[in-house]
Amino acid sequence: MPTHRLSKSRFLAGLQCHKRLYLEIHSPELATPPTPDRRAIMDMGTDVGVLAREFFPGGVLVEETHRQIPAALTRTAELIADPNVKAIFEGALVWQGILVRVDVIERLDAVRWRLIEVKATSKVKATHLDDLAIQSAVLEGAGLVVDGCYLMHLNTQYVFLGGTLNLEEMFAIDNMTEDVQARRVLVQPQLEEMWRVLTEPDPPMIPPDGHCHQPYECPFWNHCTKEKSRRWVFYLPGSSKLQKVLMREGVETMDEIPPHIQLSDIQQHVKDNVEWISPLLRARLQSVRYPVHHLDFETFMPAIPIFAYTRPYRPMPFQWSNHIEYEDGTVVHHQYLCTDGRDPREELAQHLLESLGETGSICVYSEYERFLLFALGDVLPQFKSALSKVVRRLWDLLSVIQQHYYHPDFQGSFSIKSVLPALVPDLAYNDLSIQNGAVAAVMYQKMVFSEADLMERAQIAQALEEYCGRDTLAMVELRRVLMERVGGLYL
Ligand code: SF4
Repeated sequence: MPTHRLSKSRFLAGLQCHKRLYLEIHSPELATPPTPDRRAIMDMGTDVGVLAREFFPGGVLVEETHRQIPAALTRTAELIADPNVKAIFEGALVWQGILVRVDVIERLDAVRWRLIEVKATSKVKATHLDDLAIQSAVLEGAGLVVDGCYLMHLNTQYVFLGGTLNLEEMFAIDNMTEDVQARRVLVQPQLEEMWRVLTEPDPPMIPPDGHCHQPYECPFWNHCTKEKSRRWVFYLPGSSKLQKVLMREGVETMDEIPPHIQLSDIQQHVKDNVEWISPLLRARLQSVRYPVHHLDFETFMPAIPIFAYTRPYRPMPFQWSNHIEYEDGTVVHHQYLCTDGRDPREELAQHLLESLGETGSICVYSEYERFLLFALGDVLPQFKSALSKVVRRLWDLLSVIQQHYYHPDFQGSFSIKSVLPALVPDLAYNDLSIQNGAVAAVMYQKMVFSEADLMERAQIAQALEEYCGRDTLAMVELRRVLMERVGGLYL
């Protein structure tokens, strides 16, 4: 029997981890609040849900919010009883104390309904089936005849050609009825187990591991891992299979990994936990040609395409920074930032080509810039040949470091956000108001698509320029410090 009121999201949290469900109900203050980029992802999901309603003409939205649940339940019941209502959006229903707000319930005839869950994802995931299973259980428990369960999601192959979005092509609707039926039989025992756990005086003893990140990032991760050492074996980079085996065998830290365990080169460096310099590092660093450009893009990935010839979630560059180091040590900075809501690609590419010129290596940190340059060439035929030449000059500092250098302060991560503070502590990111690319994307969208006033826009533009500029200055300094590590002096 129900001991606590649940919701669809709490049911899904309980399927991920009973401890998570317990903490959400009894100690929600222990959760880490969502970051701005996480909130932006949630907002994007809401926008997709709103757009999906256009698919169902004659549908009516239950406008009462989560703070007005009794009113929302009453309104939903009225709409169900009205045969003229073709579909209900955000309908509120309850069964056994479980409340769901359903994206779309579509009326098929006098008694039968279709349940449609809208997701801003590109494909169906296992958790979506559980999501539909609990909703269909509640709908049927509340007296509706559910004739089919569908998942409506984005088709990432859809290319927006400009003008009006073609929703028929942009959305895919998959019939998941059979898969959901298979899960439905599990719902009651799953609920009973959750209700039992919730009556316990303490949360269940569930150790943190890979399950905390799938299918969702658990907000209690910081709480559950606060006692863990920096050398916890879970932080070993690479295959999560190996971590699982080690944890199952009671290995708690990397220092306890038995010698017979086969590790990759990178894992071995992380385990050894001492600085390591490959004999080839110097030659690799000297393979650059001057002037050395240091290039970084910032991008955002709208779920709903905004500009012509883009697809859902297509990365859209809006900014670049280029620090140019000449052979005599002089460093010059060029940058571009689109500060309004127009398609930035043509102007961005034109200025970039001017900045990069025709000579010198282009130092980047990862393969992402290569992908973006090719993507720009695909939509800008006038620059395709020049952008291809740029790609041939790329020189990836990340792969040089991964293959030829390790510092214990990397703590297993080769992200520039880990590498820079380890090697150039004076130039870390913690003095910046934007400290990672995900937040940069959120702030850019706020600057160009929201109601931000002029002052706020100017502040965001400055913060974006500081952040992207830091990424490229970081590469200049990393190359310099690494060169010092191998004996200094560029030849
Ligand atoms: S961090 Fe992991 S163990 Fe802790 S509550 Fe979340 S899912 Fe459960």
